Amino acid sequence: MSVITKENQLLKGGEFLIKESQFVDMFIPEDFNEEQQMIKETVRTFVEQDIRPFVDRIEKLEDGLIPSKLDIFAELGLLGTHMPESLGGSDLDYITNTLIGEEVGPSGSFSVSYNAHTGIGMLPILYYGSEEQKLKYLPNLISGKMKASYCLTEPSSGSDALSAKSTAVLNEAGTHYILNGQKMWITNAGFADIFTVFAQVDGDKFTGFILEKGMEGFTLGAEEKKLGIKGSSTRQIFMENVMVPVENLLGEIGKGHLIAFNVLNTGRFKLGASCLGGCKEVVTASIRYANEREQFKKSISTFGAIQYKLAEQTIRTFVTDSAVYRTAHLIQMAENANKESGLDFAKSKLDAAEEYALECSIIKMIGSETLDYVTDEAVQIYGGMGYSEEGDIARAYRDSRINRIFEGTNEINRLVILSSILKSAMKGELDLMTPGMAIQNELMNGVPNGNIYEGAYAAEQQAVAHFKKVLIMLLGSAAQQAMGGQLNLKTEQEILMNLSDIIIEIFNAESTLMRVLKIAESYPDKDLDLYNAILKTHLHDATGRVTKYATDAIASFIPTEMQGAFVSGVRKYTKYPLQNIKENRRKIATAMSTAAKYAL
Ligand SMILES: Cc1cc2nc3c(=O)[nH]c(=O)nc-3n(C[C@H](O)[C@H](O)[C@H](O)COP(=O)(O)OP(=O)(O)OC[C@H]3O[C@@H](n4cnc5c(N)ncnc54)[C@H](O)[C@@H]3O)c2cc1C
Repeated sequence: MSVITKENQLLKGGEFLIKESQFVDMFIPEDFNEEQQMIKETVRTFVEQDIRPFVDRIEKLEDGLIPSKLDIFAELGLLGTHMPESLGGSDLDYITNTLIGEEVGPSGSFSVSYNAHTGIGMLPILYYGSEEQKLKYLPNLISGKMKASYCLTEPSSGSDALSAKSTAVLNEAGTHYILNGQKMWITNAGFADIFTVFAQVDGDKFTGFILEKGMEGFTLGAEEKKLGIKGSSTRQIFMENVMVPVENLLGEIGKGHLIAFNVLNTGRFKLGASCLGGCKEVVTASIRYANEREQFKKSISTFGAIQYKLAEQTIRTFVTDSAVYRTAHLIQMAENANKESGLDFAKSKLDAAEEYALECSIIKMIGSETLDYVTDEAVQIYGGMGYSEEGDIARAYRDSRINRIFEGTNEINRLVILSSILKSAMKGELDLMTPGMAIQNELMNGVPNGNIYEGAYAAEQQAVAHFKKVLIMLLGSAAQQAMGGQLNLKTEQEILMNLSDIIIEIFNAESTLMRVLKIAESYPDKDLDLYNAILKTHLHDATGRVTKYATDAIASFIPTEMQGAFVSGVRKYTKYPLQNIKENRRKIATAMSTAAKYAL
């Protein structure tokens, strides 16, 4: 792991859009140390031995099976790796925790239960619990004696979570809150011992509470019949005059939104990391099947159309991998800096994740979208066998689909990243004006702006820098029109989606570029041609996508008389040199087929 020093000044959340990140400061998956590799093996062995042979039984929701698997995970010391030692946790670094999440990913339903328990289940108490609540619940959640769930969604409030209708009223004696209402889609509900529930105090003060199984008036609905992750428990909960002791109020009255949203930052990141693990597993399965399956007397992995798919699955997984660990490292460094500045364990973690909320949303989106892409292509590579419930691919395909829906839908996450950028810009934390003016000057008056790149990766560095210019050009104009009243950014969501997509492309492209730059410098034994093929093919495609999103946005909100200038700006900034992407993809597919796995 890189040493974190004050000299390696971190970019703040979202700053990658306007500043250049330094690859030497970045953690890449090639940097894992021995201890991290050992933990990875432990989790991998657990999935192989304790999950895979039980998948059919887990899928049938066999009573007690998933909780018993969580217990085994606890015995391995893996439910409290993100918790303080004082409460029985092992306080492992963020990167190792990310690796655990990644390795759990291929376990499907177990992964959902694990993430709910350790993430949205435990974190509200760690972040916002009183000392008594932490002592009462966290050691039991770490040891697996208790299981946790998180109850935000209601039948009439999903994305609009703060409009929840559940109510909480303090009784006359001032000893208990009386809770009424209903929650829906609650992961782990069937076996959870504690439930973090959100309800409106006095009608409109959105507030968190810790409920325990067995409280009078607290009941569960039947298990939901789902498209995928069938082995994870998902139920409704009903509250009818449930008497919740005042000691179980979580955080402050009316501040439940802080709990709900801040916990989601980490939840989103963890979900993206688990999707990454799923991607690697499915790509490996695709490569092996393609190697073995013969048609027309040849292995299907030798056909260009299939090589395209294997290569593209590999590229997108590599890109996601690079982005996930880049973000994990940023959060870890921020957490360290917070600790150094005197913040306690929980606050250091909470603030670090909040700082990188935008990046966490990106990881959620790219993880879930890459997994959907990869599993869809896996079904295609498997042909009819991909459609059979006899194999694992159909299940992976069904399991994947939920990830774009929970922890904030991907539409909501796209809106969130834009609103967080605009908020930071308005608070003066993110300076869009200066780079915006410089770009305008470059386009109108030919005044050069930005770095001149040299060396083997000059074209790639230039391409990423140029993507940023495209974004800033459009963001600046959108913000200006919004301030002048010509554009209502709240209602013009299509434009926000275009801009969010460009932001995602920038983060992906830069993460991939930085990883390859670091490999080139620090890992001379690696087959650099292979990494170059991945990077260059990705940038070729990313250039096309950025051009499309930008032109869509220009056509949607730039006044007609100015559209020509904007389009020529986009053209100037999307000139990545043509690559022989066919040969690149063949090279990537051949390397993976030879290794018989996702081998990066
Ligand atoms: C298997 C499963 C497990 C879950 N586990 C939990 C859990 O443990 N705890 C919990 O609290 N919740 C849980 N959820 C709920 C989940 O978080 C919600 O389903 C999700 O937030 C979406 O809410 P919704 O289903 O009400 O969809 P809606 O909010 O009704 O959204 C429907 C569609 O409209 C779009 N949309 C909504 N608002 C906007 C907007 N402003 N602008 C643009 N588009 C919009 C959405 O993106 C989506 O495409 C789970 C759900 C499932 C299916």
